[in-house]
Amino acid sequence: MSRQLGDGHRRFLQTMMGVYIIDELKAKALYQYCCETFKMQCAADRLDEFIETINLKLQPMFMQVRKGMSEENGHQYYALVNTAETDITRMTSDYADNELELFRKTMDLIVGSEKGTASSTDILNSTDTMTSKKLKKSETEHLLTRLVQDKWLCEKRGEYTLSTRCIIEMEPYIRSMYQDQVKMCHICHNVAFQCQICENPSCGIKIHNPCVARYFKGKMEPQCPACDDFWPHEIPEVRGLRSQSKK
Ligand SMILES: [Zn+2]
Ligand SMILES: [Zn+2]
Repeated sequence: MSRQLGDGHRRFLQTMMGVYIIDELKAKALYQYCCETFKMQCAADRLDEFIETINLKLQPMFMQVRKGMSEENGHQYYALVNTAETDITRMTSDYADNELELFRKTMDLIVGSEKGTASSTDILNSTDTMTSKKLKKSETEHLLTRLVQDKWLCEKRGEYTLSTRCIIEMEPYIRSMYQDQVKMCHICHNVAFQCQICENPSCGIKIHNPCVARYFKGKMEPQCPACDDFWPHEIPEVRGLRSQSKK
């Protein structure tokens, strides 16, 4: 297998630089498009190999195309990440110091919460304890909109969560910064924020919502996979399967 970077690899990378993150289906389609356009060999199961070739060339520039799971739908995504910085200083070219401080506070809130969310009210209140130039309410709201647009946060009905891009890119930072608070999903072993928690106080394992959906699918009496206690939460549907059915 050639390790040379061809025009197809370059086109794939250029697209990633514009969007930062794409889901697996789109990545496969883009891979096929790049191969066909530049007359390269294409095999459906060779996407990861194709990306590995790109990553070898990106390494000296401290960048990488990294794969990870969406906590929202359980699908796999590919994100173009910066590997040089170990914390959110990587965002300094786009955000002012006080904006980064508030983003860090928002991460504190999300990581410290049970469900992996922070409300807009809590984020607004946290500006009271800022040490850099305090953001006004309108500035905070504007910043949150930008963080959603830039794909660092997601928002649903005033509740903010870490985006898939943010989790894929910042996982090493989050793991080292929040060692005591971060838990892994019992099923997929990735960091878990939006998830369900076993209510047995001596257990307390976390499982991502999509992992819950897959694990408990078709089980009548859901039991915790770690302590066998009854799993009292509502079991979400497996989203990917539902959207594929014709009904
Ligand atoms: Zn999981
Ligand atoms: Zn348990």
